[in-house]
Amino acid sequence: MDFLNKLGKKASEAYHATKEKASDISEEIKLKSKVNSLEEKVYELYAEIGEIVYQEVKAGKDVSKDEITIKCEEISRKKDEIAKLKAEILAVKKIKKCESCGVELDITAEFCSKCGKEQPKIEKVEIKENVEATTKEAEVIEVNNVEEDSSKDKEENND
Ligand SMILES: [Zn+2]
Repeated sequence: MDFLNKLGKKASEAYHATKEKASDISEEIKLKSKVNSLEEKVYELYAEIGEIVYQEVKAGKDVSKDEITIKCEEISRKKDEIAKLKAEILAVKKIKKCESCGVELDITAEFCSKCGKEQPKIEKVEIKENVEATTKEAEVIEVNNVEEDSSKDKEENND
């Protein structure tokens, strides 16, 4: 009986995990498509700048900086947005990148497994759409955490 109970629990855990994974993946796809469209706009801006420079050089004029500067600023804004979205994608995938060598690490990693650099702690991962789903599954997840209780050590190392 005990075995069957465990089996049932395992199955339901797997089911919940799959559900959570599915919503993470759709979130990831959404974020990635935003990144793609921003990157496309950046390339369009590069092309527009190139066109301006080309036409002016061809006409034997000095390249007018104003118009190009405006476009460059727009590119910078889009690149900032892209960087934020990419950070969100990593958070959804529960990974982070080492600031030193760029290798992908688990979001809870305290040190880089490749270069050994100490990693800044990521306090919270806010993904609004997943909040409800996560609280519903909190019961199952808590049971797992009690046994390991690794979160306690991390709090103590906070200083
Ligand atoms: Zn590293």
